[in-house]
Amino acid sequence: MGWSERQVAMLDEMGIRVWSAPEAAPPAEPAPAPASRVAASTSPAAAPARETPSAVLQAEPGLHPLHVDTLGWPELREAVAGCTACKLCTGRKQTVFGVGNERAHWMIVGEAPGEQEDLKGEPFVGKSGQLLDNMLRAVGLTRGEAPAEQQVYIANTVKCRPPGNRNPEPAELAQCEPFLIRQIALVQPRIILAMGRFAVQSLLRSTEPIGRLRGRVHQYQGVPLVVTYHPAYLLRNPEDKSRSWDDLCLAREALQPR
Ligand code: URA
Repeated sequence: MGWSERQVAMLDEMGIRVWSAPEAAPPAEPAPAPASRVAASTSPAAAPARETPSAVLQAEPGLHPLHVDTLGWPELREAVAGCTACKLCTGRKQTVFGVGNERAHWMIVGEAPGEQEDLKGEPFVGKSGQLLDNMLRAVGLTRGEAPAEQQVYIANTVKCRPPGNRNPEPAELAQCEPFLIRQIALVQPRIILAMGRFAVQSLLRSTEPIGRLRGRVHQYQGVPLVVTYHPAYLLRNPEDKSRSWDDLCLAREALQPR
């Protein structure tokens, strides 16, 4: 694939150096050609809607006092803001609901709020958020005000900050999952980008490493889903940024027409 000057500038912002002949870039993880990646993954054998249940989400869920699956946006927002279903509520400054276009074509699912997000009440506002914004900009997307085809919706798997930025626990993931499921049902995205291991565990029920799940199109409740590295991982492992660019391109190809 050739890149326009604008894209090269965008990739540069992501920290990806593009050679004048992109084909000369170092080889990424072997992956089938884009067309077959999309086609193959739509077959049930290649992409079961819900993969093997993970140990992570087998935790006994507590009782949600609300029928989260019936709530509209205002009620859902209120339910999240007042949630005390797990112990994360005791340490939060505020819940981090989600941001963006409520009918966005692209939905980005991250993991859990960190310190900055807990303070601001918005997902991905720290360093990894800056990288995410650059990545989105590289494919013509934004979290800022824009029509549904350009403005993404961003949500986390867990809505409260785990203390000390530890990983969310199985029970916390299980308790919070209905909120994310309802957000997806309301947004009705045409493509979901699952960033990092906890998003993948929630949405695909898979504990396979990201490196084994990326490079093909999965399905979540009939919505194409592409797995990619979490921006925080990319900040620690910048050599994988070119793979995340491939994932964005794959997601763009897989976008479901409506
Ligand atoms: N990492 C995430 O997954 N989500 C955030 O909101 C911030 C960092």
